[in-house]
Amino acid sequence: MIWLDFGMFAVLLGLFFYVFASSSITVLHRVYLILHMIFISWPLCQFISQTIASQTYKLFYLQTAYAGLSLLGVGWFVFIVFLAGESFRLQKGRLFVVALPAVISVVTVVVNPGSQFLRINDQLDPAKQLQHGPLYWIMIIQLVLYMAASILFMAKKLRSSESEGQRTLIKTAFNGISMLLFFSIADLFVNVYFIEYFHRYIPLVSVGMTAAALYLVHAIGRNRVFDIIKTVQRDVINTMALGVIVLDENHRIIEMNSIMKKMLRLRLGDKFDRDSIASRLNGLASREVAAFLEEERKRPLERIEFEMELDLDPFRHIIIQSAPILNPRKQPIGRVLTFQNVTELRLLVEETNRQNEQLQDRYRDLLLMQDELFQANKKLERMAITDGLTGCYNRRYLLQHLEQEVATNVRYGVPFSIFLFDLDHFKSINDRYGHLAGDEVLCSTVEAVRSALRMTDVLARYGGEEFTVYLPHTNREQADMIAERIMSAVESNQVVTGGGEQAIAVTISMGIISIESFEPSVADDSKAFLREMLAQADAALYEAKYNGRNRIVAGKLA
Ligand code: GH3
Ligand code: MG
Ligand code: MG
Repeated sequence: MIWLDFGMFAVLLGLFFYVFASSSITVLHRVYLILHMIFISWPLCQFISQTIASQTYKLFYLQTAYAGLSLLGVGWFVFIVFLAGESFRLQKGRLFVVALPAVISVVTVVVNPGSQFLRINDQLDPAKQLQHGPLYWIMIIQLVLYMAASILFMAKKLRSSESEGQRTLIKTAFNGISMLLFFSIADLFVNVYFIEYFHRYIPLVSVGMTAAALYLVHAIGRNRVFDIIKTVQRDVINTMALGVIVLDENHRIIEMNSIMKKMLRLRLGDKFDRDSIASRLNGLASREVAAFLEEERKRPLERIEFEMELDLDPFRHIIIQSAPILNPRKQPIGRVLTFQNVTELRLLVEETNRQNEQLQDRYRDLLLMQDELFQANKKLERMAITDGLTGCYNRRYLLQHLEQEVATNVRYGVPFSIFLFDLDHFKSINDRYGHLAGDEVLCSTVEAVRSALRMTDVLARYGGEEFTVYLPHTNREQADMIAERIMSAVESNQVVTGGGEQAIAVTISMGIISIESFEPSVADDSKAFLREMLAQADAALYEAKYNGRNRIVAGKLA
């Protein structure tokens, strides 16, 4: 039955190692743990060996103790190499070579060939019953060699290392090894050499191991070497601007960073569900979170993103992301939630939108103003070329327009005509019906003339009650026809003025000039040609007046 016990102990021990080896602790942790187990095995086995009477078991436990002890040197050496951060030196193959002497030593201890390692002579006095053979001294030598190698390695590292923290660590390890060596040598003297003098076994190596371990653990704690990764991870997660919550499968909080604690006043172990959120947020926000949780429940294997508005200063706009944590069989075992504060971004966007709207308003106003200005300009332009009373073109426009037209017509030999007409006895209309009625007659006559013209003909007020018509692409024959049309349109035009019941009729006298053939010399000075044309039209008009009015006289260029 004792083997069953031992078997169980071995299984439990194995499990202990498995748990530590598979969980996320550093490699240095694991190496130290192995060294620690070697430390433990020695006093345990020594203790058991002294509590049992059977010589066979006593020998077995002593052998086990020594087997552990055989590994102490290599264990220490490996620990020192890892502590110095040079674990790369012990890649697989090399580690085996380095450990080989210790492994051989273990084999000799376990096999104990011909009792050449250890024998128990129960004939002797109890204190002297243990007899060490030559293999024992071989074990001692390999231990001393490993220790010497460790000390050399540490000395070299102390000289070369520039990191103060690492130097402190190595010094600490050095103190530990010194402690262990001191007690081991003392043990050798007390329990092996001078056993006859002391007459009893004194467990000095155990004391040395315990002292060394205490020293190491204390120093390690002080230097926080094992915590460093965790501390860094914590710092990173706590200084992040991102809120992080890790939930288990029951939606209980198992991890979160400090920003989250502040934001929602949550604690580890709290449930992250509809009810707990409702008590912490206002109605609208809690409804949004509830909707989010519902979505999460519906799609447990998907990553979900959600933006919401809260009223937690300064967190107002938040993007929550929720991703499932899956085990190797792709089953959800929890969720990780991240809370990203996008308030500043949103405020910036809002501000930009507002400014954009303002800009658009201003732009619209500007467009409106531009349009008004355009209309005003158009009106001004029209006014600048229009006669205010009759609405036909003014003299300025006519002369400008004629200058261009005449030049073009002359150049390309295009025939054209010009009429100049004047209302007959207009002064007497003014005198008789008044100036306002005169104005009306003027306008009405212009309308009558216009009705007889073609779209392309240009009617302009030349001054007073005198008008000009420019007729492009019009030869004498066509001009005569249009002139007659105008005469009859005016003649048949009865003007009923505002106040008067009586219709007023007027006639006009007209001088017309038509150009059908061109002298080549004319092209050189079209302005003079125009002046001459107008003078001739004026002369023809004068002639029409002189000959009795209400008639057309065709002028000729001199
Ligand atoms: P005729 O041309 O047949 O020789 O006689 P007339 O009476 O028309 O001669 P005159 O050129 O001397 O008179 C023109 C008159 O037209 C003088 C002026 O008072 C009048 N008149 C000129 N411009 C306007 C105007 O815009 N409105 C009004 N009501 N009268 C005008
Ligand atoms: Mg007149
Ligand atoms: Mg006149």
